[in-house]
Amino acid sequence: VTVVVDAERVGTRLRLLSAWDATHRCDLAGHLSHYGPLPELRGDLVESFVRSVAGAGLSGRGGAGFPTAVKLRARRDAVGRDRWVAGHRAGAGRATRRPGAPRGVVVVNAMEGEPASSKDEVLLCCAPHLVLDGAEVAAAVVGARGVVVCVPEGRDAAAASVTRAIGERGRAARVPADVARPPGRFVAGEESSLVGWLSGRPGVPSFRLDKGVPLLLEAEPVVVHNAETVAHMALIARDPGLADPTALVTISGAVARPGVYEVELGSPLRDVLSPASPRDAAAVLVGGYGGAWVAASAFDTPYSSEGLGRVGAAPGAGVLVVLPLGACGISETARIAAYMAGESAGQCGPCVFGLAAIADDLCALATGVADADVLERLGRRTAAVTGRGACRHPDGVARMVQSALGVFSADALAHADGRPCGMPCTAPLAHRGAGR
Ligand code: SF4
Repeated sequence: VTVVVDAERVGTRLRLLSAWDATHRCDLAGHLSHYGPLPELRGDLVESFVRSVAGAGLSGRGGAGFPTAVKLRARRDAVGRDRWVAGHRAGAGRATRRPGAPRGVVVVNAMEGEPASSKDEVLLCCAPHLVLDGAEVAAAVVGARGVVVCVPEGRDAAAASVTRAIGERGRAARVPADVARPPGRFVAGEESSLVGWLSGRPGVPSFRLDKGVPLLLEAEPVVVHNAETVAHMALIARDPGLADPTALVTISGAVARPGVYEVELGSPLRDVLSPASPRDAAAVLVGGYGGAWVAASAFDTPYSSEGLGRVGAAPGAGVLVVLPLGACGISETARIAAYMAGESAGQCGPCVFGLAAIADDLCALATGVADADVLERLGRRTAAVTGRGACRHPDGVARMVQSALGVFSADALAHADGRPCGMPCTAPLAHRGAGR
C-alpha cells in the first residue's frame, strides 16, 4: 500500500502520519521525539479535553461519523453510573470492587471491514504509538482500566506493529493494552459484533433497543472507538486548540497511484483525488461499499460530512473508488451488491432476503435481461430494507444502490429497456488497488 503525506497540502501542524513522513520510523523513540510526551488527563483537564474534541469537530472515522465528544460524554456518564452500582453492590457483599476504581475497557476498532479500505492498517503500521496514546486518552476520559486493539485476521503487519509498540511501552503504559484478532468479515467491526466476539460469542451484531446503553465485556462497560478516531484524540490531547482534523482516505480503482492519503477535510473532492492521479473518472464511490456514488460533475463538492451530505454521500470509512469512463456503473454496483448480500450476518429477514433480491435484480439489470418493472422494484426494495436490520448493513447497501440508480440513471434506463450500455464490464474496480 502506498502511503502518501503531502506536507504542502496539509500544512506543518500535527498530523497522523507526519512522524512517519519525517523519519519513516514508528518506534517509541521516534514517536516521542516527533510528538513529545502525552499530557496526563486528570480532574478538570478531562472535561476540558472533551470540549477540545467537540471544538475540533472530531467525528468517528469508522463509518458512522458520530460526534466523538458526544460519545465520550455519554460513555463516561454510563461508566460512572455503573461504578456507583458496583460500589453499592460491594456494600451488599456481591462485589469487591472499590467504588471509584477504574472500570471498563476501551476497544480500539481497527477491523476495517470495508474491502477497499486500508487506512487503519496503514495507521497501525506507521503510527502505532499515536493509536495507543489515543486509547490511553479515551481510557482516562471514561475511567477505563484497559485497552484492547482489535485487528482482523489477515492483517498481520498491523497486528505485529501494534504488538511491538505495546512491548516498547512496557511499564510506562498508563493502562494495560492487548491485541485481539477477530475474523475479518464485513460486519465483524460493527461494535456489538466486536464486543460479542471478545466475549466469546459469535461475532455478529446484537439487537439493541437503546444504543446509548453501553455494551458489556465480562460485566464491565465497553467503549468502542475507531483506530483513526483515537489517533486524532492523541493529537488533540497534545494541542487542545487543534481545529479541523485531517482525514485518512484510501483511494483505489482507476488511479495511477492507489494508496492511503492524509487529506484536509473540506477540500474539493477533485483535489482529494488528484495526488492519486485518477484516469478519466466518470464517478467515484465515496465512503465504501455502503457509501454512495458521486458523479464526476460533482467533484467540486467539499470532502466533508456537510459537503458530501449535499450530494447524498458521507466520508464513511474514508474510501474513494474511482470508476473510469468506459466502465459500467450498473455492473459495478451489481458486483458490490452481490458481495454485500453475501456478507449479511444471516439474522434479520429484511437483510438476508432483501439484499439477495436486490442483488438478483441488479444482476439482471446489468446483463439486460431484467423485466420492465425492475427499476420500480429496486426503489421499493431498497426502501423496504432500510432501518430493518439489527445493524446498518442493509441501510448502506440500499444507499449505495439508490445512488447508483441516480448517478447512472441513463444507463439504468437503457439496461432496463434491454439495451445494456455496451461498455466493457471491467474487473471489479472496488476489489482492486489499495484493498487488502
Ligand atoms: S442487518 Fe444483516 S448484517 Fe446486520 S445483523 Fe441483521 S442480518 Fe446481520
